[in-house]
Amino acid sequence: MKAAEKLGFEETLLKDVVSKNRCAGCGACVIVCPFNCLEYTQAQTPRLVSECQKCGICVKVCPRYEWSLPEMEKFVFGRTRKPEEIFGIYTEMYIAKSTSKEVLNVCQDGGVATALLVSALESKLIDGAVLAHTDSERPLLPKPVVAETQEEIMRGAGTKYSYSPNLLALKDVVERKKQSVAFVGTPCHIQALRKIQVFPLRKYSNPIKFMIGLMCTESFEYESFIGRFLPQTLGVNLRDVKKMNIKGKILIELRSGEVKEVSLKEAKQYTRKGCFYCADFSSEFADISLGGLGLNQQTFTIIRTEKGSEIFENALKRNFITAEPVSEESFSFRLLKKLSKMKRKRASEST
Ligand SMILES: Cc1cc2nc3c(=O)[nH]c(=O)nc-3n(C[C@H](O)[C@H](O)[C@H](O)COP(=O)(O)OP(=O)(O)OC[C@H]3O[C@@H](n4cnc5c(N)ncnc54)[C@H](O)[C@@H]3O)c2cc1C
Ligand code: SF4
Ligand code: SF4
Ligand code: SF4
Repeated sequence: MKAAEKLGFEETLLKDVVSKNRCAGCGACVIVCPFNCLEYTQAQTPRLVSECQKCGICVKVCPRYEWSLPEMEKFVFGRTRKPEEIFGIYTEMYIAKSTSKEVLNVCQDGGVATALLVSALESKLIDGAVLAHTDSERPLLPKPVVAETQEEIMRGAGTKYSYSPNLLALKDVVERKKQSVAFVGTPCHIQALRKIQVFPLRKYSNPIKFMIGLMCTESFEYESFIGRFLPQTLGVNLRDVKKMNIKGKILIELRSGEVKEVSLKEAKQYTRKGCFYCADFSSEFADISLGGLGLNQQTFTIIRTEKGSEIFENALKRNFITAEPVSEESFSFRLLKKLSKMKRKRASEST
């Protein structure tokens, strides 16, 4: 890492990450550059827009550059995983669900992400949350935001299957002088945030009190998949889409009630290239990880740290969620292990 300090963007991230299509698109390098040399492009990669001062800061926060799983485990959990800890280190697991009909109407699975945030905001555990809204002009295009009210949190509910560079919203967190924020994001976001903590870049790491990680197999290119394939091949008017979901195949539910389907095999060509290099399915470095895992109106919840336990217990005690323990015999538990192994294998074959 010492040698990398003197290196600039071009001989590190551009050469070894972006040019090799390994970039996750997280945006961490863009926000941390103290000289504002980097721009986040429409292709969801960083681009140099002024002379790099070779300070080496962007290099240190990239989840795809000098990433060490054991080192990060020691930093977050104080130990490395045992071989049987296939989906990372954790303390408890639950199948949980929001108790609010309003949340269940708009959420992706059991509405746990939204319920945790609303409960934490009401009880002043947090003063904001980084999450994804959708763009008002371009339907289904995710837009990273800092939500400050219950209404703004609720508006973020539901999964957007194209990439949302939520780290870009950290600029707003700092500008609005937020003190205590929950961050919702995919595994690549959480890895970048942990690297920001390790560095540390306190301006960005101090306000983040809770990291809520989503499970993630992949995300799809907006322009080619959502913008062209859905309307042109599937005949979907994007403004009519009520919800997208993946249950063995991609299901696109329209407001009329009709459901259009795309096989995962067909959709593979639209997977973002950087996702093929991603080994983390279950947000292994989050405080708490959430996923659907084939459940119906329930969220599979993995508590990994004390912080994860704090935000979960807060919502449970205040009756914002209900929770039951996970059976290791259940389909969802077996699926979690299977998808974690598959994603690691895919990444090792891509590298
Ligand atoms: C790209 C992607 C792929 C996923 N793939 C899988 C999978 O293969 N298997 C699985 O079990 N689960 C997957 N998930 C997680 C799952 O879809 C749900 O997000 C999770 O179960 C939580 O559901 P919920 O009802 O508790 O969340 P909700 O209460 O509906 O809240 C969801 C939260 O996630 C935020 N969010 C939505 N889209 C994004 C995004 N693109 N980037 C960052 N934040 C976002 C929202 O703003 C909201 O705060 C994926 C999620 C994403 C974003
Ligand atoms: S943070 Fe900015 S100035 Fe520093 S190496 Fe990266 S691009 Fe160059
Ligand atoms: S993965 Fe993130 S930090 Fe690394 S080059 Fe891509 S956008 Fe920058
Ligand atoms: S697979 Fe998911 S976590 Fe990994 S880079 Fe793609 S969006 Fe990020």
